[in-house]
Amino acid sequence: MMNLNDKAFLNDFLKSPKQIAIIPHRNPDGDALGSCLALYHVLIQLNHTVKVIAPNEFPEFIAWLPASEEILIFEKNFDTCATFLQGSDLVFTLDFNALHRAGDQMGSYLEKLRKPFVMIDHHQMPDDYAKITVSNTNYGSTCELLYNFLTELNLQSYINSNAATCIYTGIVTDSGSFKFIKTTSDTHRVVANLIDLGVDNPKVHSSLFNTSSYNQLQLVGKALQQLKVIPNHSTAYTYLSQIDLNDCNYQKGDTEGIVNYGLSIKGINFAAIFIEHKEEGIIKISFRSEGDFNVNEFARNYFNGGGHINAAGGKSFDNLQDTILKFETILKDINKQ
Ligand code: 5GP
Ligand code: MN
Repeated sequence: MMNLNDKAFLNDFLKSPKQIAIIPHRNPDGDALGSCLALYHVLIQLNHTVKVIAPNEFPEFIAWLPASEEILIFEKNFDTCATFLQGSDLVFTLDFNALHRAGDQMGSYLEKLRKPFVMIDHHQMPDDYAKITVSNTNYGSTCELLYNFLTELNLQSYINSNAATCIYTGIVTDSGSFKFIKTTSDTHRVVANLIDLGVDNPKVHSSLFNTSSYNQLQLVGKALQQLKVIPNHSTAYTYLSQIDLNDCNYQKGDTEGIVNYGLSIKGINFAAIFIEHKEEGIIKISFRSEGDFNVNEFARNYFNGGGHINAAGGKSFDNLQDTILKFETILKDINKQ
């Protein structure tokens, strides 16, 4: 996973107290925030001064993660965050592979920051900004990768129940509760260890998934009613306009997972959701596939995005209708089966 030089550097570096920043991608999900907080819980036991600095607010469904109340928000508390970053000896970036994934504001700040970075990530095609790049697309989550990273550094004994809970959360959320393709026997062995370390697994699932609001379910209902199926292309997509979001009093995170419903239709191997964000002037798009259809490439080629083979995202600067038209045209052009 790491070469001997990187390992020696980190072991030596972590021996004495340092100031360390840990950063997830913008709009962090369970894996991004879980991996950051897990690393936080390990490093504070080694007497480092550690802060998790998220580019923007994190969604409610992961706000219960231990120490989430300690997280600094770059776009809200710029001065505090900048001061901490300037004083940091090392900056970890977790669950992303290009600095712009921290958003425009924090991304361009990080590009100018002359500090050594450590990237721990499982997305395809990592950029080359880090002193140490721990990138492996075979892992279904950054959290599982982090578990092995910590083990390699002989820090496994510092994975306490808080760290274990955070790692478990990332594995659950990025694996669709242990069902996506990269869920291996190793994943289950890691999870078994995490439960032994004190993770209350039924409670984590309940905290993650049984907290819907009435409004959120109405939004799911809207998306399902607007679902379009294109059997010729084995594709299903839906959309939510800004009006749809407003009608259901949209809160960050409310649209999480809706895209997957399309894939549950028999014979469908490609699903997409288009979500209008009027204020930002963009359509945020999520893509999911089952099998060989590579949505990372699709998102990269046509929709300013990226991700993994079976889960990717992107954005469009056209309006909702034009974006969807473009999508349908591309399906025809590439003759998607
Ligand atoms: P989601 O659809 O849940 O937002 O994202 C699915 C996957 O694609 C995640 O792993 C996420 O990191 C990646 N992804 C989402 N949006 C973008 C984007 O705009 N650019 C890139 N490179 N990856 C994205
Ligand atoms: Mn991830």
